[in-house]
Amino acid sequence: MARRTKYIFVTGGVVSSIGKGITTASIGRMLVSRGFKVTPLKIDPYINKDAGTMNPYQHGEVYVTDDGAETDLDLGHYERFIGVNLTSASNFTTGSVYGAVIAKERRGEYLGNTVQLIPHITDEIKSRIYKLAEDSGAHVMIVEIGGTIGDYETPPFTEAIRQMRLEVGRENTLFVHVSLIAYVGPWGETKTKPTQHSVKALMELGIQPDILICRSKSALTEEHKRKLSLFCSVPKEAVIEARDTKNIYEIPLTFEKQGLADLIIDRLALPDCSPDTKEWEEMVSKLKKPNGEVSIAIVGKYTQNGDAYLSITEALKHGGIANNVEVNIKWIESDHLEEGDEFKYFNDVHGIVVPGGFGYRGIEGKIKAIRFARENKVPFLGLCLGMQCAVIEFARNVLGFERANSIEFDPDTPYPVITIMEEQKKVEDMGGTMRLGAYPCKLEKDSVAFKEYGTEIISERHRHRFEFNNEYREQFISHGLRLSGLSPDDQLVEMIEIDDHPWFVATQFHPEFKSKPLQPHPLFSGFVSAVLKHTQAK
Ligand code: GLN
Repeated sequence: MARRTKYIFVTGGVVSSIGKGITTASIGRMLVSRGFKVTPLKIDPYINKDAGTMNPYQHGEVYVTDDGAETDLDLGHYERFIGVNLTSASNFTTGSVYGAVIAKERRGEYLGNTVQLIPHITDEIKSRIYKLAEDSGAHVMIVEIGGTIGDYETPPFTEAIRQMRLEVGRENTLFVHVSLIAYVGPWGETKTKPTQHSVKALMELGIQPDILICRSKSALTEEHKRKLSLFCSVPKEAVIEARDTKNIYEIPLTFEKQGLADLIIDRLALPDCSPDTKEWEEMVSKLKKPNGEVSIAIVGKYTQNGDAYLSITEALKHGGIANNVEVNIKWIESDHLEEGDEFKYFNDVHGIVVPGGFGYRGIEGKIKAIRFARENKVPFLGLCLGMQCAVIEFARNVLGFERANSIEFDPDTPYPVITIMEEQKKVEDMGGTMRLGAYPCKLEKDSVAFKEYGTEIISERHRHRFEFNNEYREQFISHGLRLSGLSPDDQLVEMIEIDDHPWFVATQFHPEFKSKPLQPHPLFSGFVSAVLKHTQAK
């Protein structure tokens, strides 16, 4: 058991999507800015083994780590705010916990005992938390419990963390509850009651929160704080306001101002040291006072739920920080574009992104957008499926390959320019079986890719089953499509670009997963810079 690690547990009340992930990430940011080593963990109470098979409409983006885990999007917040690179150990679900316990039972490891929720499931949960603490060597581990207190699925996890307080001691554990302040009636009267009920539900599970984070539309008055303190049994100084904000990167600074970090340090008896927030503050002030703006279209098929493309919108924001401009996003549903007039759709944007995705719906709209970007010399960034669509578009409209396609969408196409990867042919299970995680890629020396990265060998994260069909390489190259990034053994095309274009780059990987506000990703910085030039030229 890792006794030296301190544990902060973050739970949520009243509604889901209340901002537990950003709270966890912001607490992490405040602690790393004081020099502590922090490791975050997200526990998801659903039964799926991981997020890999879930629909982006329901779950938002599937975030991929270097080691190829398909995880919850909160891991993206953690990596971006805390500046760490996480692994498959940083996210687990009810499904994976039960799966492991049942496998142990089948191996006879419980020696004839009846296998039960307590202690076997709770022991499995605790052992994973302790193991990550031990392996990471973190001073502080922040554990976010997904879902909402009161859900049927959360009690095994709240029970495990309740036991942990007994095991590692009060001075080594802290319970932070993020809850909603409601506004009702024609005057938008402030109501603390839902939060009181949610804390009551938490206390029925044996957990008294130490700190309350109150998500609210407007400022909390002293009276509200007094009331919350009294009814929730939390000292008034530990009732913290988390007001809605357009700029999520500001949240660690607003928590800092309210003394949240000092409170945590005091409660966990951590050594007191002053924070270094200079770099973060500069980044936030660049975001708040940009020197101009650019408009970029994202042509996708889950555009009703911005969370489906979360890392892309954040990476574009980071590209904006690098160029000192605000990036405005115009969401274009690719289905609609199929029927519509592309000139109307794109008349007010100066850059086009086609993101990743699966299945045929919306593909023709994406191809239409790419043709528009190529022919009208609009800066273009294609990501994973976006690269595959760019290859299809080029094949159809430059090489004249009628009905060229990916065999994902048309298995009988006469020109399968995107084909199934060799090792994918035998795969039957859907979960965890794609080409996943970080792989090296070699860049061509005089390419845009090389200019942006400034290095020859890069490493980026992948999540796909299909690839560029090598049989057509020569025909593409001879017509002006450059294969600017290849796997080190030259077998896989990882990046393409078009020379006769101001900035047309597409990647088989997902660079968006590695962009951070303090280290904007070079491709996103380069793309936004090209968009800015295009905006100024217009
Ligand atoms: N559907 C494509 C593939 O499996 C692209 C995947 C993606 O965009 N992540 O290869």
